[in-house]
Amino acid sequence: SRYTKEDIIKITREEDIKFIRLQFVDILGTLKNVAITDEQLEKALNNQILIDGSSIEGFVRMEESDMYLKPDLDTFEIFPWRPHQGKVGRMICDIYNLDGTPFQGDPRYVLKKVIKEAADMGYDFNVGPEFEFFLFQIDENGYPTTTTHDNAGYFDLGPIDLGENVRRDIVLTLEEMGFDIQTSHHEVAPGQHEIDFKYSDALRSADNIVTFKLVVKVIARKHGLHATFMPKPIFGISGSGMHCNLLMYDEDGRNIFYDEKDELNLSKEAYYFIGGLLEHAKALTAVTNPTVNSYKRLVSGFEAPVRIGWSTINASPLIRVPRGRNKNSLIELRSPDPSCNPYLAVAAMLKAGLDGIKNKIEPPKMMEQKELSKVLDTLDVESTIPSTLKEALIDLSKDEIIKDALGDVYERYMKAKSLEWDEYISVVHSWEVEKYISRY
Ligand code: GLN
Ligand code: MG
Ligand code: MG
Ligand code: MG
Repeated sequence: SRYTKEDIIKITREEDIKFIRLQFVDILGTLKNVAITDEQLEKALNNQILIDGSSIEGFVRMEESDMYLKPDLDTFEIFPWRPHQGKVGRMICDIYNLDGTPFQGDPRYVLKKVIKEAADMGYDFNVGPEFEFFLFQIDENGYPTTTTHDNAGYFDLGPIDLGENVRRDIVLTLEEMGFDIQTSHHEVAPGQHEIDFKYSDALRSADNIVTFKLVVKVIARKHGLHATFMPKPIFGISGSGMHCNLLMYDEDGRNIFYDEKDELNLSKEAYYFIGGLLEHAKALTAVTNPTVNSYKRLVSGFEAPVRIGWSTINASPLIRVPRGRNKNSLIELRSPDPSCNPYLAVAAMLKAGLDGIKNKIEPPKMMEQKELSKVLDTLDVESTIPSTLKEALIDLSKDEIIKDALGDVYERYMKAKSLEWDEYISVVHSWEVEKYISRY
Protein backbone atom coordinates (compact mmCIF):
# COMPACT_ATOMS: atom_id res chain seq x y z
CA SER A 1 0.00 0.00 0.00
CA ARG A 2 0.97 3.61 -0.54
CA TYR A 3 1.29 4.90 3.00
CA THR A 4 1.79 3.73 6.56
CA LYS A 5 0.43 5.58 9.59
CA GLU A 6 3.93 6.92 10.20
CA ASP A 7 4.12 8.24 6.63
CA ILE A 8 0.92 10.16 7.10
CA ILE A 9 2.01 11.67 10.40
CA LYS A 10 5.30 12.67 8.80
CA ILE A 11 3.70 14.19 5.68
CA THR A 12 1.22 16.07 7.84
CA ARG A 13 4.06 17.63 9.80
CA GLU A 14 6.30 18.34 6.81
CA GLU A 15 3.56 19.72 4.59
CA ASP A 16 2.08 21.88 7.35
CA ILE A 17 -1.33 20.24 7.18
CA LYS A 18 -3.69 21.66 9.76
CA PHE A 19 -7.00 20.04 8.93
CA ILE A 20 -7.80 16.53 7.81
CA ARG A 21 -11.18 15.71 6.35
CA LEU A 22 -12.38 12.20 7.04
CA GLN A 23 -14.68 11.39 4.14
CA PHE A 24 -17.27 8.68 3.55
CA VAL A 25 -20.44 8.32 1.47
CA ASP A 26 -24.10 7.73 2.32
CA ILE A 27 -26.26 5.32 0.32
CA LEU A 28 -27.00 7.98 -2.29
CA GLY A 29 -23.27 8.34 -2.89
CA THR A 30 -23.15 11.82 -1.38
CA LEU A 31 -19.77 12.62 0.03
CA LYS A 32 -19.82 13.44 3.76
CA ASN A 33 -16.99 14.43 5.98
CA VAL A 34 -15.91 15.37 9.46
CA ALA A 35 -12.90 17.62 9.83
CA ILE A 36 -10.28 17.05 12.48
CA THR A 37 -7.16 19.03 13.24
CA ASP A 38 -3.68 17.58 13.16
CA GLU A 39 -3.91 17.27 16.98
CA GLN A 40 -6.38 14.43 16.53
CA LEU A 41 -4.59 12.72 13.67
CA GLU A 42 -3.24 9.84 15.75
CA LYS A 43 -6.64 9.19 17.21
CA ALA A 44 -8.05 9.13 13.66
CA LEU A 45 -5.32 6.81 12.44
CA ASN A 46 -6.18 4.45 15.28
CA ASN A 47 -9.78 4.41 14.03
CA GLN A 48 -11.09 6.12 17.13
CA ILE A 49 -13.08 8.96 15.57
CA LEU A 50 -16.80 8.48 16.16
CA ILE A 51 -19.65 9.72 14.01
CA ASP A 52 -23.37 9.71 14.67
CA GLY A 53 -24.80 7.49 11.94
CA SER A 54 -28.42 8.37 12.68
CA SER A 55 -28.23 11.64 10.79
CA ILE A 56 -26.81 10.03 7.65
CA GLU A 57 -29.07 8.93 4.81
CA GLY A 58 -29.43 5.17 4.88
CA PHE A 59 -27.33 4.58 7.96
CA VAL A 60 -30.09 4.61 10.55
CA ARG A 61 -30.16 1.75 12.97
CA MET A 62 -32.35 1.17 15.96
CA GLU A 63 -30.06 0.17 18.79
CA GLU A 64 -27.23 2.62 18.60
CA SER A 65 -26.02 5.05 16.03
CA ASP A 66 -22.38 5.70 16.92
CA MET A 67 -19.90 4.37 14.42
CA TYR A 68 -16.19 4.52 13.93
CA LEU A 69 -14.37 5.93 10.93
CA LYS A 70 -11.50 3.81 9.69
CA PRO A 71 -9.38 5.87 7.29
CA ASP A 72 -8.04 4.15 4.18
CA LEU A 73 -4.46 5.41 4.30
CA ASP A 74 -4.01 4.99 0.56
CA THR A 75 -6.63 7.65 -0.13
CA PHE A 76 -4.63 10.35 1.65
CA GLU A 77 -4.48 13.51 -0.50
CA ILE A 78 -3.95 17.22 -0.02
CA PHE A 79 -6.59 19.62 -1.40
CA PRO A 80 -4.55 21.80 -3.78
CA TRP A 81 -7.15 24.59 -3.76
CA ARG A 82 -6.91 25.14 -0.01
CA PRO A 83 -4.35 27.37 1.75
CA HIS A 84 -0.71 26.50 1.36
CA GLN A 85 0.02 27.13 5.01
CA GLY A 86 -2.13 25.11 7.33
CA LYS A 87 -3.11 22.86 4.43
CA VAL A 88 -6.15 20.62 4.23
CA GLY A 89 -5.75 16.88 3.68
CA ARG A 90 -8.28 14.12 3.39
CA MET A 91 -8.71 10.37 3.75
CA ILE A 92 -11.67 8.28 2.62
CA CYS A 93 -12.93 6.05 5.43
CA ASP A 94 -14.68 2.76 5.98
CA ILE A 95 -17.44 2.72 8.56
CA TYR A 96 -17.11 0.35 11.50
CA ASN A 97 -19.54 -0.70 14.22
CA LEU A 98 -18.65 -0.12 17.86
CA ASP A 99 -17.89 -3.82 18.21
CA GLY A 100 -15.14 -3.48 15.61
CA THR A 101 -16.94 -5.20 12.74
CA PRO A 102 -17.45 -3.42 9.40
CA PHE A 103 -20.81 -1.68 9.04
CA GLN A 104 -22.57 -3.60 6.29
CA GLY A 105 -24.63 -0.59 5.25
CA ASP A 106 -21.49 1.25 4.14
CA PRO A 107 -21.43 1.45 0.32
CA ARG A 108 -17.67 1.00 0.38
CA TYR A 109 -18.17 -2.27 2.25
CA VAL A 110 -20.72 -3.37 -0.36
CA LEU A 111 -18.18 -2.83 -3.12
CA LYS A 112 -15.35 -4.50 -1.20
CA LYS A 113 -17.48 -7.59 -0.76
CA VAL A 114 -18.03 -8.03 -4.50
CA ILE A 115 -14.36 -7.24 -5.19
CA LYS A 116 -13.49 -10.07 -2.81
CA GLU A 117 -15.76 -12.40 -4.73
CA ALA A 118 -13.94 -11.48 -7.94
CA ALA A 119 -10.56 -11.88 -6.28
CA ASP A 120 -11.52 -15.37 -5.15
CA MET A 121 -12.07 -16.19 -8.82
CA GLY A 122 -8.65 -14.73 -9.64
CA TYR A 123 -9.97 -11.46 -11.10
CA ASP A 124 -8.95 -7.85 -10.62
CA PHE A 125 -11.76 -5.62 -11.91
CA ASN A 126 -10.90 -2.16 -13.26
CA VAL A 127 -13.12 0.75 -14.21
CA GLY A 128 -12.38 3.87 -16.25
CA PRO A 129 -15.19 6.43 -16.22
CA GLU A 130 -16.00 9.08 -18.83
CA PHE A 131 -17.56 12.01 -17.03
CA GLU A 132 -19.97 14.45 -18.61
CA PHE A 133 -21.29 17.48 -16.76
CA PHE A 134 -22.69 20.96 -17.27
CA LEU A 135 -21.34 24.29 -16.14
CA PHE A 136 -24.09 26.77 -15.35
CA GLN A 137 -24.20 30.36 -14.26
CA ILE A 138 -25.07 31.31 -10.71
CA ASP A 139 -27.74 33.94 -10.05
CA GLU A 140 -27.33 37.02 -7.87
CA ASN A 141 -28.49 35.08 -4.81
CA GLY A 142 -25.90 32.40 -5.32
CA TYR A 143 -28.28 29.75 -6.67
CA PRO A 144 -27.48 27.67 -9.75
CA THR A 145 -29.39 28.46 -12.93
CA THR A 146 -29.67 26.43 -16.13
CA THR A 147 -28.10 29.22 -18.16
CA THR A 148 -24.83 28.18 -19.70
CA HIS A 149 -21.85 30.37 -20.17
CA ASP A 150 -21.42 29.17 -23.74
CA ASN A 151 -24.80 30.55 -24.70
CA ALA A 152 -23.67 33.98 -23.74
CA GLY A 153 -20.48 33.29 -25.65
CA TYR A 154 -22.47 32.95 -28.86
CA PHE A 155 -23.18 36.63 -28.98
CA ASP A 156 -20.20 37.83 -27.10
CA LEU A 157 -17.06 36.83 -28.94
CA GLY A 158 -14.84 37.77 -26.04
CA PRO A 159 -11.26 36.57 -25.88
CA ILE A 160 -11.86 34.23 -22.95
CA ASP A 161 -13.90 31.06 -23.00
CA LEU A 162 -14.71 30.75 -19.33
CA GLY A 163 -15.80 27.14 -19.70
CA GLU A 164 -12.48 26.16 -21.22
CA ASN A 165 -10.56 27.89 -18.46
CA VAL A 166 -12.54 26.10 -15.78
CA ARG A 167 -11.97 22.76 -17.45
CA ARG A 168 -8.27 23.41 -17.63
CA ASP A 169 -8.16 24.40 -13.97
CA ILE A 170 -10.12 21.27 -13.05
CA VAL A 171 -7.75 19.04 -14.99
CA LEU A 172 -4.64 20.62 -13.44
CA THR A 173 -6.08 20.29 -9.93
CA LEU A 174 -6.97 16.65 -10.51
CA GLU A 175 -3.47 15.96 -11.81
CA GLU A 176 -2.02 17.49 -8.65
CA MET A 177 -4.13 14.97 -6.75
CA GLY A 178 -2.71 12.06 -8.69
CA PHE A 179 -5.37 11.65 -11.37
CA ASP A 180 -4.24 10.45 -14.76
CA ILE A 181 -6.47 12.46 -17.10
CA GLN A 182 -6.95 10.82 -20.49
CA THR A 183 -8.91 13.44 -22.38
CA SER A 184 -11.02 16.46 -21.73
CA HIS A 185 -13.19 18.23 -24.24
CA HIS A 186 -16.29 20.26 -24.78
CA GLU A 187 -19.37 18.05 -25.24
CA VAL A 188 -22.22 18.33 -27.74
CA ALA A 189 -24.50 20.60 -25.72
CA PRO A 190 -23.73 24.22 -24.81
CA GLY A 191 -22.08 24.33 -21.39
CA GLN A 192 -21.46 20.58 -21.41
CA HIS A 193 -18.01 19.15 -20.83
CA GLU A 194 -16.38 15.76 -20.66
CA ILE A 195 -13.34 14.64 -18.69
CA ASP A 196 -12.12 11.04 -18.80
CA PHE A 197 -9.57 9.63 -16.43
CA LYS A 198 -7.56 6.46 -16.49
CA TYR A 199 -9.03 3.24 -15.20
CA SER A 200 -7.97 1.86 -11.88
CA ASP A 201 -9.03 -1.02 -9.69
CA ALA A 202 -12.69 -0.99 -8.75
CA LEU A 203 -12.35 0.47 -5.24
CA ARG A 204 -9.88 3.16 -6.24
CA SER A 205 -12.04 4.02 -9.20
CA ALA A 206 -15.14 4.55 -7.03
CA ASP A 207 -13.02 6.66 -4.66
CA ASN A 208 -11.78 8.65 -7.65
CA ILE A 209 -15.32 9.23 -8.86
CA VAL A 210 -16.46 10.85 -5.60
CA THR A 211 -13.23 12.86 -5.43
CA PHE A 212 -13.64 13.95 -9.05
CA LYS A 213 -17.13 15.29 -8.44
CA LEU A 214 -15.95 17.27 -5.43
CA VAL A 215 -13.04 18.80 -7.34
CA VAL A 216 -15.19 19.75 -10.34
CA LYS A 217 -17.74 21.46 -8.13
CA VAL A 218 -15.16 23.31 -6.05
CA ILE A 219 -13.15 24.58 -9.01
CA ALA A 220 -16.25 25.57 -10.98
CA ARG A 221 -17.39 27.66 -7.97
CA LYS A 222 -14.04 29.36 -7.86
CA HIS A 223 -14.76 30.49 -11.41
CA GLY A 224 -18.24 31.66 -10.47
CA LEU A 225 -19.99 28.73 -12.13
CA HIS A 226 -22.05 25.81 -10.88
CA ALA A 227 -21.07 22.33 -12.05
CA THR A 228 -23.89 19.81 -12.10
CA PHE A 229 -23.89 16.05 -12.51
CA MET A 230 -27.64 16.00 -12.85
CA PRO A 231 -28.19 13.57 -15.75
CA LYS A 232 -30.59 15.68 -17.83
CA PRO A 233 -30.72 19.29 -16.73
CA ILE A 234 -32.30 20.64 -19.92
CA PHE A 235 -35.01 19.11 -22.09
CA GLY A 236 -34.19 18.77 -25.78
CA ILE A 237 -30.41 18.67 -25.57
CA SER A 238 -27.93 15.96 -24.55
CA GLY A 239 -27.84 14.68 -21.02
CA SER A 240 -24.74 13.76 -19.06
CA GLY A 241 -23.59 10.18 -18.86
CA MET A 242 -20.82 8.46 -17.01
CA HIS A 243 -19.88 5.71 -19.44
CA CYS A 244 -17.77 3.08 -17.71
CA ASN A 245 -14.95 1.27 -19.46
CA LEU A 246 -14.64 -2.11 -17.82
CA LEU A 247 -11.41 -4.10 -17.80
CA MET A 248 -10.53 -7.36 -16.14
CA TYR A 249 -7.05 -8.53 -15.23
CA ASP A 250 -5.72 -11.68 -13.64
CA GLU A 251 -3.30 -11.74 -10.73
CA ASP A 252 -0.36 -11.39 -13.11
CA GLY A 253 -1.83 -8.29 -14.69
CA ARG A 254 -2.91 -10.04 -17.90
CA ASN A 255 -6.03 -8.71 -19.60
CA ILE A 256 -8.62 -11.47 -19.23
CA PHE A 257 -10.96 -9.87 -21.77
CA TYR A 258 -8.35 -10.15 -24.52
CA ASP A 259 -8.09 -12.96 -27.02
CA GLU A 260 -6.01 -12.36 -30.12
CA LYS A 261 -7.78 -15.09 -32.08
CA ASP A 262 -11.24 -13.55 -31.75
CA GLU A 263 -12.52 -11.22 -34.45
CA LEU A 264 -13.20 -8.48 -31.90
CA ASN A 265 -10.23 -9.50 -29.77
CA LEU A 266 -12.59 -10.56 -27.02
CA SER A 267 -12.15 -13.64 -24.86
CA LYS A 268 -14.79 -16.11 -23.79
CA GLU A 269 -14.87 -14.40 -20.37
CA ALA A 270 -15.50 -11.05 -22.04
CA TYR A 271 -18.49 -12.44 -23.92
CA TYR A 272 -19.86 -14.03 -20.77
CA PHE A 273 -19.32 -10.78 -18.88
CA ILE A 274 -21.34 -8.98 -21.56
CA GLY A 275 -23.92 -11.75 -21.27
CA GLY A 276 -24.18 -11.13 -17.52
CA LEU A 277 -24.48 -7.37 -17.88
CA LEU A 278 -27.27 -7.78 -20.42
CA GLU A 279 -29.04 -10.47 -18.40
CA HIS A 280 -29.15 -8.16 -15.38
CA ALA A 281 -29.43 -4.93 -17.37
CA LYS A 282 -32.82 -3.93 -16.02
CA ALA A 283 -32.07 -4.31 -12.32
CA LEU A 284 -28.62 -2.84 -12.87
CA THR A 285 -30.25 0.32 -14.22
CA ALA A 286 -31.88 0.98 -10.82
CA VAL A 287 -28.36 1.33 -9.42
CA THR A 288 -26.49 2.96 -12.32
CA ASN A 289 -29.35 5.40 -13.00
CA PRO A 290 -30.84 6.07 -9.60
CA THR A 291 -32.81 9.30 -9.95
CA VAL A 292 -36.14 10.27 -11.47
CA ASN A 293 -34.18 12.53 -13.77
CA SER A 294 -31.85 9.73 -14.94
CA TYR A 295 -34.65 8.39 -17.13
CA LYS A 296 -35.08 11.69 -18.94
CA ARG A 297 -31.58 11.08 -20.30
CA LEU A 298 -32.25 7.48 -21.35
CA VAL A 299 -34.29 8.34 -24.44
CA SER A 300 -33.31 7.99 -28.07
CA GLY A 301 -31.88 10.83 -30.09
CA PHE A 302 -29.12 11.95 -27.73
CA GLU A 303 -26.55 9.15 -27.94
CA ALA A 304 -27.76 7.76 -24.63
CA PRO A 305 -28.43 4.03 -24.47
CA VAL A 306 -31.94 2.59 -24.60
CA ARG A 307 -31.63 -0.91 -26.02
CA ILE A 308 -30.51 -3.94 -24.12
CA GLY A 309 -27.90 -5.06 -26.56
CA TRP A 310 -24.34 -4.55 -27.62
CA SER A 311 -22.49 -3.40 -30.68
CA THR A 312 -19.27 -1.83 -31.84
CA ILE A 313 -21.09 1.37 -32.72
CA ASN A 314 -21.40 4.32 -30.37
CA ALA A 315 -25.17 4.67 -30.37
CA SER A 316 -28.26 3.40 -28.61
CA PRO A 317 -27.12 -0.01 -27.29
CA LEU A 318 -26.26 -0.43 -23.64
CA ILE A 319 -22.83 -1.84 -24.33
CA ARG A 320 -20.19 -0.91 -26.83
CA VAL A 321 -17.10 -2.87 -27.63
CA PRO A 322 -14.56 -0.51 -29.13
CA ARG A 323 -12.84 -2.04 -32.12
CA GLY A 324 -9.13 -2.01 -32.70
CA ARG A 325 -8.24 -1.88 -29.04
CA ASN A 326 -5.60 -4.49 -29.63
CA LYS A 327 -4.52 -5.94 -26.28
CA ASN A 328 -6.54 -3.36 -24.38
CA SER A 329 -9.83 -5.16 -24.94
CA LEU A 330 -12.52 -3.61 -22.83
CA ILE A 331 -16.27 -3.37 -22.47
CA GLU A 332 -17.95 0.05 -22.39
CA LEU A 333 -21.14 0.18 -20.35
CA ARG A 334 -22.94 3.30 -21.51
CA SER A 335 -25.92 3.51 -19.19
CA PRO A 336 -24.41 4.82 -15.93
CA ASP A 337 -24.93 8.47 -15.19
CA PRO A 338 -22.99 10.64 -12.76
CA SER A 339 -25.84 10.75 -10.23
CA CYS A 340 -25.18 7.15 -9.24
CA ASN A 341 -23.47 6.02 -6.07
CA PRO A 342 -20.25 4.75 -7.69
CA TYR A 343 -19.59 2.17 -4.97
CA LEU A 344 -22.97 0.55 -5.46
CA ALA A 345 -22.92 0.95 -9.24
CA VAL A 346 -19.49 -0.64 -9.65
CA ALA A 347 -20.47 -3.43 -7.25
CA ALA A 348 -23.62 -4.13 -9.28
CA MET A 349 -21.78 -4.12 -12.63
CA LEU A 350 -19.13 -6.46 -11.37
CA LYS A 351 -21.68 -8.79 -9.80
CA ALA A 352 -23.67 -8.95 -13.05
CA GLY A 353 -20.54 -9.67 -15.08
CA LEU A 354 -19.28 -12.32 -12.66
CA ASP A 355 -22.66 -14.01 -12.84
CA GLY A 356 -22.24 -14.10 -16.60
CA ILE A 357 -18.83 -15.75 -16.25
CA LYS A 358 -19.95 -18.23 -13.57
CA ASN A 359 -23.03 -19.32 -15.49
CA LYS A 360 -21.49 -19.01 -18.94
CA ILE A 361 -24.23 -16.64 -20.10
CA GLU A 362 -23.88 -16.25 -23.86
CA PRO A 363 -24.70 -12.71 -25.02
CA PRO A 364 -27.23 -12.28 -27.81
CA LYS A 365 -25.96 -11.55 -31.31
CA MET A 366 -24.28 -8.21 -31.76
CA MET A 367 -26.70 -5.49 -32.93
CA GLU A 368 -26.20 -4.42 -36.53
CA GLN A 369 -26.48 -0.93 -37.94
CA LYS A 370 -29.86 -1.61 -39.54
CA GLU A 371 -31.32 -2.96 -36.31
CA LEU A 372 -30.02 0.07 -34.49
CA SER A 373 -31.59 2.48 -36.90
CA LYS A 374 -35.03 0.90 -36.50
CA VAL A 375 -37.42 3.18 -34.66
CA LEU A 376 -37.90 2.11 -31.09
CA ASP A 377 -41.22 0.83 -29.91
CA THR A 378 -41.87 2.26 -26.45
CA LEU A 379 -43.94 -0.74 -25.51
CA ASP A 380 -41.12 -3.12 -26.33
CA VAL A 381 -40.10 -3.52 -22.70
CA GLU A 382 -38.23 -6.75 -23.41
CA SER A 383 -35.45 -5.18 -25.39
CA THR A 384 -35.24 -1.76 -23.76
CA ILE A 385 -33.92 -0.67 -20.39
CA PRO A 386 -36.52 0.54 -17.85
CA SER A 387 -38.03 3.86 -18.81
CA THR A 388 -38.75 5.16 -15.33
CA LEU A 389 -37.20 4.86 -11.89
CA LYS A 390 -40.28 2.96 -10.78
CA GLU A 391 -39.90 0.30 -13.49
CA ALA A 392 -36.23 -0.03 -12.65
CA LEU A 393 -36.99 -0.51 -8.95
CA ILE A 394 -39.51 -3.22 -9.75
CA ASP A 395 -36.89 -4.92 -11.93
CA LEU A 396 -34.39 -4.63 -9.11
CA SER A 397 -36.81 -6.19 -6.64
CA LYS A 398 -36.97 -9.27 -8.92
CA ASP A 399 -33.25 -9.72 -9.49
CA GLU A 400 -31.66 -11.84 -6.77
CA ILE A 401 -28.12 -11.36 -8.07
CA ILE A 402 -28.15 -7.57 -8.03
CA LYS A 403 -30.01 -7.59 -4.70
CA ASP A 404 -27.30 -9.82 -3.35
CA ALA A 405 -24.65 -7.39 -4.61
CA LEU A 406 -26.29 -4.60 -2.60
CA GLY A 407 -26.53 -6.82 0.46
CA ASP A 408 -27.56 -4.91 3.57
CA VAL A 409 -27.97 -1.71 1.61
CA TYR A 410 -30.76 -3.13 -0.55
CA GLU A 411 -33.71 -2.52 1.81
CA ARG A 412 -32.60 0.99 2.69
CA TYR A 413 -31.88 1.84 -0.92
CA MET A 414 -35.31 0.63 -2.03
CA LYS A 415 -36.97 2.62 0.69
CA ALA A 416 -35.15 5.84 -0.10
CA LYS A 417 -35.74 5.46 -3.84
CA SER A 418 -39.41 4.49 -3.52
CA LEU A 419 -40.01 7.62 -1.44
CA GLU A 420 -38.29 9.67 -4.13
CA TRP A 421 -40.54 8.18 -6.78
CA ASP A 422 -43.72 8.62 -4.72
CA GLU A 423 -42.93 12.25 -4.17
CA TYR A 424 -42.22 12.85 -7.86
CA ILE A 425 -45.31 11.07 -9.15
CA SER A 426 -47.66 13.05 -6.93
CA VAL A 427 -46.31 16.45 -7.98
CA VAL A 428 -48.09 18.28 -10.81
CA HIS A 429 -45.34 19.18 -13.26
CA SER A 430 -45.28 22.20 -15.53
CA TRP A 431 -45.48 19.96 -18.61
CA GLU A 432 -48.90 18.74 -17.49
CA VAL A 433 -50.22 22.19 -16.83
CA GLU A 434 -49.03 23.42 -20.23
CA LYS A 435 -50.48 20.41 -21.96
CA TYR A 436 -53.84 20.15 -20.26
CA ILE A 437 -54.90 23.44 -18.73
CA SER A 438 -56.48 24.74 -21.93
CA ARG A 439 -57.40 21.45 -23.49
CA TYR A 440 -59.65 20.31 -20.65
N1 GLN B 1 -24.12 12.42 -23.64
C1 GLN B 1 -24.28 11.07 -24.10
C2 GLN B 1 -24.87 10.22 -22.97
O1 GLN B 1 -25.74 10.68 -22.32
C3 GLN B 1 -23.00 10.48 -24.59
C4 GLN B 1 -22.41 11.22 -25.73
C5 GLN B 1 -21.08 10.65 -26.16
O2 GLN B 1 -20.11 10.78 -25.44
N2 GLN B 1 -21.01 9.97 -27.25
O3 GLN B 1 -24.50 9.11 -22.72
MG1 MG C 1 -16.57 9.77 -24.16
MG1 MG D 1 -19.15 12.04 -24.26
MG1 MG E 1 -18.10 6.68 -24.27
